[in-house]
Amino acid sequence: MTAQATSNSWDLDADVIVVGSGAAGLPAAIKAVEGGASVIVVEANYDVGGHAILSGGHMALGGGTSVQRKYGIEDSPDVVFSDLTDWSIVQPNGSPDFRYNDRAVMRAFADHCAQTFEFLLANGVEFTDKPPDNHGASTTGNSAPRENHAFWTKGAGLESPNAAPGTGVIRPLEASARTKGVKFLLNYKMTSLIREAGSNGSPGRVIGFTVQHTPHIMPGAKSSLKSFRSEGNIESDRPTMTLRARKAVVVATGGSTSHIEFRRMFDPRLTPVVQVGGEPYSYQDASGELAAMAVGASLWGLANQTLENGATMRTQRALATKYNYTTWKLESPIFPLVKATGFNVKDWQDLILVNQVGQRFYDETKGDVPHGNNGAQVTPYTPNDYRNAENVKYSPTKYNFTHAALAMNEYSEPPDYCAGPVWAIFDTDAVEREGWKITPPHVDPDGFFFAASTLAELAAAIKNEYQAKPMKGAVLEATVARYNSMVDRGEDSDFGKPAPKYKILTPPFYAAWATPVVHDTRSGLRINAKCQVIDMSGKVIPGLYCAGESAGGFNQHGMGRCATQGFICGIQAAAEPRGE
Ligand SMILES: Cc1cc2nc3c(=O)[nH]c(=O)nc-3n(C[C@H](O)[C@H](O)[C@H](O)COP(=O)(O)OP(=O)(O)OC[C@H]3O[C@@H](n4cnc5c(N)ncnc54)[C@H](O)[C@@H]3O)c2cc1C
Repeated sequence: MTAQATSNSWDLDADVIVVGSGAAGLPAAIKAVEGGASVIVVEANYDVGGHAILSGGHMALGGGTSVQRKYGIEDSPDVVFSDLTDWSIVQPNGSPDFRYNDRAVMRAFADHCAQTFEFLLANGVEFTDKPPDNHGASTTGNSAPRENHAFWTKGAGLESPNAAPGTGVIRPLEASARTKGVKFLLNYKMTSLIREAGSNGSPGRVIGFTVQHTPHIMPGAKSSLKSFRSEGNIESDRPTMTLRARKAVVVATGGSTSHIEFRRMFDPRLTPVVQVGGEPYSYQDASGELAAMAVGASLWGLANQTLENGATMRTQRALATKYNYTTWKLESPIFPLVKATGFNVKDWQDLILVNQVGQRFYDETKGDVPHGNNGAQVTPYTPNDYRNAENVKYSPTKYNFTHAALAMNEYSEPPDYCAGPVWAIFDTDAVEREGWKITPPHVDPDGFFFAASTLAELAAAIKNEYQAKPMKGAVLEATVARYNSMVDRGEDSDFGKPAPKYKILTPPFYAAWATPVVHDTRSGLRINAKCQVIDMSGKVIPGLYCAGESAGGFNQHGMGRCATQGFICGIQAAAEPRGE
């Protein structure tokens, strides 16, 4: 199919147009085409998948799925609904996972959750045949294990941008969508929605949107990057186009984590120094939210974004690379953008973490913030009983790494008082103990990894766009000397690291990027139970739907909620009246 201008000035025309091809967009497209609609998926990237294709493929879906029944796990939509609206559940850090969930949105999720699981199976997604568990889970509810694990192996039409299990969800859905007749417009980004005037001058339906050609959506990407599958692709190189959606537009654009000013509305600390999981393959730049807000949409459930939930902020996984949440593979087609794989830490005793000033701030061995409440985490459990909190092992200090890392320091200056980067400092003995490879492409010496023969030279060598001022050699030397003395004493009197083990003594010395990452969007456009977008006066915006991380009112990590909302959107969008 080739894009062509039509007499009414629309360049492309379909009943339902889905914006975004990730965990929410593909189910929406498939359900809409199954419902008899003609469907186009518009995707800003060169290939489909968004964050979902990079994901671990763990999917929280319960409510009485065939696999839950097979393994004798009792669950039902009512139990899912009760779980995910239970105000009394708190995490070990005191965060109330479900308190601010929108009840209508949760009821819709609960009622469609098991159906979505069966829908995924019917459209080619395979899950490992074992009982659902809590592995990879986040905020799935206390009453039953609900996490399923997508099965993926390389090859067999399942090519991945980064050999990630989420490919086992996305590629089968993509193949199914294409087979069923869904068209794909890749390398085009929705820039604004078009809403017609209603009767008596009030705003009417959303009838389409404008797109901009984005052959270079990833800064520095080669325009030769092509989608893995091409059947059904709409080919065009027009700089802009206007698309007509006769029934509905579905916004499935993945949230707002990559838009710095948008994410700072929720948390002012999230200045540009904080990178985003999923970049540089996929940018969740709030374009869906902003376009919908420009035609009157409201945001919703905003508290959820600032709750201290497990997956919202993450510690780094790979050191010495800017994109330090996902461990990028050398064979990834976008590796030239990523530049370095980074390396993982086996034993956090092997290093210290310092802020941009060169000072420690935390016990390096403490882990990530906890994932949310999952099956049997609170035992005994009585729904909505305030005493549930007494059965949580309350431990707020354990989960404050990201907050300590974002704390102001001597170099935090106006206007934003940014915390600056976090650096892992270690010596040659640590490199040997860990078996790290410290040459490119394992590390990125262009601002994210430094080596020097003295600590003073190391401090002076650290040059990075987010480092406000040069680290002072004397400060880093004093930090390391103090840490080494605490190793001698076997006690970290500053931050309580249990029995600090290794001195940092043997040159060369190293500094590796170790700044935390922002991960999930938990707040977005206000939707109702049908996933219709709601305006600032509480009314439905006709013809506009939203699903996934761009939708608000639902505090849960990941693909289960996104796929389920996509499923709902597809059904509802196909059932809309068809505009002339
Ligand atoms: C590394 C990683 C691992 C993860 N692991 C898991 C896991 O194991 N389990 C789990 O449940 N969750 C996981 N997640 C989270 C999960 O991937 C996301 O919650 C989910 O993919 C969000 O679905 P979505 O459809 O809202 O957005 P996405 O899947 O990100 O899709 C959004 C798409 O919209 C496109 N887009 C954005 N704006 C526009 C526009 N204006 N025009 C056109 N297209 C646009 C984007 O390019 C993208 O392709 C992981 C995330 C990451 C980054």
